[in-house]
Amino acid sequence: MNRIAESYVKLVLAVGQHDANYVDAFYGPAEWKQAAEAAGKRPLPDLLAEARALLAALAASPVPDAAGAADAADELPRLRHRYLERQLSALAAHVEALGGRRRTFDEESRALYDAVAPVYDAAHYQAILDRIDRIVPGKGPLSDRIEAYRRRFVIPPDRVDGVFAAAIAECRRRTAAHVPLPPGESFTVAYVKNKPWSGYNWYQGGFHSLIQVNTDLPIYIDRALDLAGHEGYPGHHVYNALLEQHLVRDRGFVELTVYPLFSPQSLIAEGTANFGVEVVFPGPERVIFERQVLYPKAGLDPAGAANYDRLQELLRDLGYAGNEAARGYLDGKITRDAAQAWLVRYALMSPERAAQRLRFIDTYRSYVINYNYGQDLVRRYIESRGGTADHPDQRWREFARLISSPRLPSDLR
Ligand SMILES: [Zn+2]
Repeated sequence: MNRIAESYVKLVLAVGQHDANYVDAFYGPAEWKQAAEAAGKRPLPDLLAEARALLAALAASPVPDAAGAADAADELPRLRHRYLERQLSALAAHVEALGGRRRTFDEESRALYDAVAPVYDAAHYQAILDRIDRIVPGKGPLSDRIEAYRRRFVIPPDRVDGVFAAAIAECRRRTAAHVPLPPGESFTVAYVKNKPWSGYNWYQGGFHSLIQVNTDLPIYIDRALDLAGHEGYPGHHVYNALLEQHLVRDRGFVELTVYPLFSPQSLIAEGTANFGVEVVFPGPERVIFERQVLYPKAGLDPAGAANYDRLQELLRDLGYAGNEAARGYLDGKITRDAAQAWLVRYALMSPERAAQRLRFIDTYRSYVINYNYGQDLVRRYIESRGGTADHPDQRWREFARLISSPRLPSDLR
């Protein structure tokens, strides 16, 4: 298994020579990366053949029997086997895509992320829009009214860093109270421009992350906790650090030293990062902290916090609207302009944000399902194991267990 795992890592690095977005993180032996760079762009058919040979080798090696596995440690050999199988299958699909093979949106998400997101029609979103309409009554298109209302909740640029620092500190404090964090874990925050995403965590290895925040567009007050929780604690930074601690260092699972972006691991990464925001701030605790700490730090009037928080909850219910726009656009059923108009109308994005999202869709394609469908799959899985909102300690336990294991979407069902 270790030999297959090592070959898998080297193969991911080789595919990365064809696609700069593919290798999201790598902190294994530096000479492996140097060797991949020295080899340059190896022919895609060779990479595909190698992926298939590794899949065959994996299929020929026995699946460890986990029947009666008493604890998480017992099930690790089986999870590892499946992890390598799913990740290698996704790698093969991505190599095929680089070679020009086009799948439909749903075929692609199944091949790359081990999941197919449900479809909702316009009526589903309209029902949510009608409820939002009551929060911001008035004349004119709802998207314009929302845009005008939201302007009151923009963090002034010179206060963004202070607000983020407070949000991250609180997310870290709350996470550390429930999850033992690796010794010396740390991160750096940097502000960047001209990116298709609004925030990004670049895991560096050694329990360190670089968190980048995109300042192209106004940053609303709710983004502070969303980003701090999603990119930092208990999201991507903690997920990567725990995988390194428990699987790479304690067990020598070298396959976790590389993180290929277009793979099932991303659904778990994004799903747990989004759900983690709910875990770290259950129920009303979020708006209480925002009102007491973040609004004053941002120089915003906390009187509107409760109303704004209600709006955010409803807007989150519109999350799947981004999938519909991406599915229709990538499948060639609607034009780019129509997809942008759909995002403005049904996801209530400003035209500028909708344009940014389309650039994201152009780059990352069906990856968009990992955020919303990933979050729902992770929530259902954790709740099915007793980690409901009424049992916060159990929810933290299940959450920590999930982000310390090589579990993939098909293991959640
Ligand atoms: Zn993310």
